[in-house]
Amino acid sequence: MLSGTHAIVTGGGTGIGLAIARALANQGAQVTITGRRLEVLQEVATPGLHPLAMDVTEEAQVTEGIAQAVEARGPVQICVPNAGIAEGRSVPKSDTEFWRRVMATNLDGAFWTIRESLSSMLGTDWGRVVAVSSIAGLRGLKGASAYTASKHGLIGLIRGLSEDYMGKPFTFNALCPGYVDTPIVTRNVEAISSRAGVSEDKAREMMVSQNRHQRLIAPEEVAQAALWLCGPGSESVNGQCIEIAGGQV
Ligand code: NDP
Repeated sequence: MLSGTHAIVTGGGTGIGLAIARALANQGAQVTITGRRLEVLQEVATPGLHPLAMDVTEEAQVTEGIAQAVEARGPVQICVPNAGIAEGRSVPKSDTEFWRRVMATNLDGAFWTIRESLSSMLGTDWGRVVAVSSIAGLRGLKGASAYTASKHGLIGLIRGLSEDYMGKPFTFNALCPGYVDTPIVTRNVEAISSRAGVSEDKAREMMVSQNRHQRLIAPEEVAQAALWLCGPGSESVNGQCIEIAGGQV
């Protein structure tokens, strides 16, 4: 289905990004997977998954990294800005350094990744941008205002882009997962446990209980939604946010 296409998945060495990268590669795409830790990317590399070390908070690294990937594998036709950090802090406890770090990773990084990918994508006759936002991109997430703001911002970027290219063969959509079983959730379980003074089991239970199926979502479930947006039959879906959240409210 995706043979001959080149995809970029930021944060593609772990969690949701890795599941999306594998799903795209299984359909024949050549996928550039990026992250700061080259060794993590190399561990999961296959003939269809190509590691590229790139810190999305550094504009020059994104510009140069994507140029290298385009040189090696052709125009980017599928762009998945997925790299993100999810650290919860109340606003009074959020210093400017923290705020900037969240915005730089979740919003600036996605903006640079999309902009640099588009410069090759727009010269082709088909392209898909599938951003990984969050349920926190649609609603407030208690104790995580910076994260919530960054994920709302990402959806704004996607909606704006979808208007810019409406009617052209390029679509821009966002995925909005609830709690997915990845390293971010493991780190949050540890953080909630120490902040709230509860056991890690209890902290995990607090997350699970928000999903009405009473479980964490598998990264592969999110990947299936990404695959659908990149496959035939979803051309009319543009500027949308797809919740994969087990009814979390
Ligand atoms: P992971 O921690 O597994 O994934 C985050 C990825 O982002 C890692 O591969 C990490 O690689 C990369 N990354 C982080 N900072 C940077 C940076 N500065 N430059 C480049 N890459 C970076 O967790 P998830 O898979 O869960 O997270 C993926 C996305 O899904 C995130 O945007 C997150 O907000 C979103 N999400 C997750 C949910 C969940 O419950 N798990 C729910 C809703 C949304 P490295 O450290 O090597 O740089």
